[in-house]
Amino acid sequence: MQGILEIDAAALLRDPDRAIGARAPQLEAAVLRRLGHEPVSRILGQREFYGRVFKVTPGVLDPRPDTETLIDLVLEIVGAEGRHDDALTIADIGCGSGAIIVTLLAALPRAAGVAIDVSPAALAVTRGNAATHGVADRLKTVETRGLCGINDHLDIIVSNPPYIPTGEITGLDAGVRDFDPMLALDGGVDGLQIYREIANNIRALQKPCWICLEIGAGQHDAVERIFEAIGAVARHRRIDLGGHIRAVALKIHC
Ligand code: GLN
Repeated sequence: MQGILEIDAAALLRDPDRAIGARAPQLEAAVLRRLGHEPVSRILGQREFYGRVFKVTPGVLDPRPDTETLIDLVLEIVGAEGRHDDALTIADIGCGSGAIIVTLLAALPRAAGVAIDVSPAALAVTRGNAATHGVADRLKTVETRGLCGINDHLDIIVSNPPYIPTGEITGLDAGVRDFDPMLALDGGVDGLQIYREIANNIRALQKPCWICLEIGAGQHDAVERIFEAIGAVARHRRIDLGGHIRAVALKIHC
């Protein structure tokens, strides 16, 4: 309601009886969409993530607070290694709205990013969000699958890939199932298919690289095993606000 009427919570509290006025039809349309389980962020076309507002379209996953766990993990690793001001190169596989890579570039002043997605529509949203948050000059976007065709030296790979097992998708909350793109949710029969693909790509890397991944609840052991099988070493796990291990970090060629 505040988003549609373009007022803040304080204005609403000060004057709860004010007439809605000319925005009434928009508000009614938004309420009807909400009654159809559409998330507020989709109705407004934007979502706050790690303190910044990101544009979201029907073609990208709606950034979740859970994913902020992955940001914290990457920033802790970079801080612990004393590399906050280094010219790191970070790749984001399946960048969607760009929430992850744009947030990291905004936090790390000399880092450069490679935002990767199979969807050109998602890459366009990432580019827009990168421009909004002043990091477009340090970000390139590449339409590909995994790391196919990427030759940059990478210091950190981040990804929030689709990880929901195909058979569980029909049972998801309607706000997720009916409004997030299937491409961003469906992780194959066991939910782990994209992690296997990423591990296969990473096999070809020659230099030390961190691999920082968002995972589904309960997937930590299985995901770590997939990356340990290509020689990576599991280093960190981070818990989200719901108490689930939501992010893992492994290092390869260390
Ligand atoms: N975190 C999302 C959910 O549980 C799924 C996103 C994903 O598969 N990466 O709805």
